[in-house]
Amino acid sequence: MQKYFVNELLMPEKQFILEEHDQHHLKNVMRYHNGDTIICIDTNHIQYLCTIADIQQGMIKAEKALDIDNELDVEVTLIYALPKGDKFELVLQKACELGVSHIIALQSKRCVVKMTKDKFAKKLPRYHKILKEASEQSGRNRIPDIKGIVTIKDIGSCLGDVNLVAYEETAKSQHHGQLYESLQQLQSGQHIVVIVGCEGGFEESEIKELNALGVKCCSLGKRILRSETAPLYLLSVIGYSREVAKC
Ligand code: SAM
Repeated sequence: MQKYFVNELLMPEKQFILEEHDQHHLKNVMRYHNGDTIICIDTNHIQYLCTIADIQQGMIKAEKALDIDNELDVEVTLIYALPKGDKFELVLQKACELGVSHIIALQSKRCVVKMTKDKFAKKLPRYHKILKEASEQSGRNRIPDIKGIVTIKDIGSCLGDVNLVAYEETAKSQHHGQLYESLQQLQSGQHIVVIVGCEGGFEESEIKELNALGVKCCSLGKRILRSETAPLYLLSVIGYSREVAKC
């Protein structure tokens, strides 16, 4: 069933107004009509079964709250050093499908892309649209937030209960166990932060700074993954360990 996030809390009159873009999508792309059923998710992250009251005005009537929670039971932050081209957008979409809670764009020393905070701010509406659509498509209860640009020096204020940096040199040294051990220790409700490098990887000095903050190096196995594959590997194993391996 078609799902849309709305920028509102369900009010006593039990109506939502869809955003203009979603009104257009519902009417002209999906070709829905008055009386058809959709799901809307309000700003409290609650999913409601709704009927379309007036498709021209984007007016939706909530029928009942649904007992659906498709979020991971841990908070996950991905700190990702800016890659080249449109890989960042690909990772946004896939990370969202995999359940990420927060995405932070990192400007590390070997990033070819030099992004200022202003340039990043201009891209935010597009990034938010990608995250919203991926959240709707994957049935999530919330849209991940995104911020940038941070440097390694800012990372101290972003850390959680478990903090890992995927480091290619750890993989090369054949010490593969840290990710497994950390996921074994992770408790429901905790916050895990994972940091991934760009195409050129991390400089040793950056890894030392992270280690001094308590961030542990982890391997993602013997093969060196592309910078856009590594975050998806990490988020997949987090999801697997929280939802699939436990069942
Ligand atoms: N230029 C680096 C090299 O030659 O070794 C490779 C960097 S890799 C393409 C990009 C990022 O993905 C790394 O900085 C790291 O965060 C992550 N990564 C890729 N494969 C990994 C692995 N096997 N173990 C740990 N991290 C990995």
